[in-house]
Amino acid sequence: MTASERMESPRLVGLNTVSPHIALWIGLPAALVLALLYGLPTHAIVSFWVMAHLAGIGTTMGFHRLFCHRSFDTSRTVECALMILGSMSGQSSPFFWIATHRQHHRHSDRDGDPHSPHAGTPRRGWLRRFWHAHQGWTLRKATYNPALVRDLAQRRDLVWIDRHWYLWYFLGLALPTAAGYLIGGTTYDALMGFLWGGLLRQALSEQVTFAINSVCHVWGSRPYATGEQSRNNLLFGLLAFGEGWHNNHHAFPYSARHGFHWWQPDFTWNLVWLMERVGLVWNVKRPKLDRARKDAPEPEPLAAIALATLRPSPPIVGGP
Ligand SMILES: [Zn+2]
Ligand SMILES: [Zn+2]
Repeated sequence: MTASERMESPRLVGLNTVSPHIALWIGLPAALVLALLYGLPTHAIVSFWVMAHLAGIGTTMGFHRLFCHRSFDTSRTVECALMILGSMSGQSSPFFWIATHRQHHRHSDRDGDPHSPHAGTPRRGWLRRFWHAHQGWTLRKATYNPALVRDLAQRRDLVWIDRHWYLWYFLGLALPTAAGYLIGGTTYDALMGFLWGGLLRQALSEQVTFAINSVCHVWGSRPYATGEQSRNNLLFGLLAFGEGWHNNHHAFPYSARHGFHWWQPDFTWNLVWLMERVGLVWNVKRPKLDRARKDAPEPEPLAAIALATLRPSPPIVGGP
């Protein structure tokens, strides 16, 4: 490892590790129990929906398709907005997220992959490896190789947003809290805004993101021979705004479009397409499907994919 490849950690790395667990083990049950006991205000449901979409698009369109893969170009304003929205998800600092994902593509399902259910540690026990790929890997101290985000580190505005990731995360909790108080007028309304638009939203969207690393490398169809175990999964295609078409993505990582057919819903792509039409994004990269079909079978129809999502993957060739 050279001096330039010394590992770095996000600022407030402890918050980075603890916040998903607070959201999952305290925020989620509190949100549900209070709603059952004392009622669920409409504004809390709206906050949940709005914040899930804002932070979700920040991660799928911003962190993933724009910053990790440069699958389209856009203005600095849109770049900064997407990085801030993605930081509201509570999934750590943008540079850590992006470096970790680039590492995943470099070493997919081989040693060096930070969250594979097939390789690396732990080596024994299917459930242990699945848990490691899903959320277990986040329990380790978050570090990343800064060389993997060298392109982003040239940009002072993006570095500043990254260094203050926790401010955007707290903003993502404060906005639904304030909205709840302003609309409902009581402390209970503020609390339900905080819980439903903040912690419950964070917990559920994190589980969906984690599932791309775990479920979408185990269950689903593989229309493309990609050399690792990525899968197309309809459920997470829907829940993760198109990210569940993960085998498509590993086959064409540069593509801004992950769902290649009308029956592969891809909300993020719909938004990129719309933004291209109105001139907010450009140089949008599309998959060169004809080239891939020469050495790969046709994508399976919807019914086959739905069935495949219910079956565990076959034994892994080359796995531990
Ligand atoms: Zn993957
Ligand atoms: Zn990717």
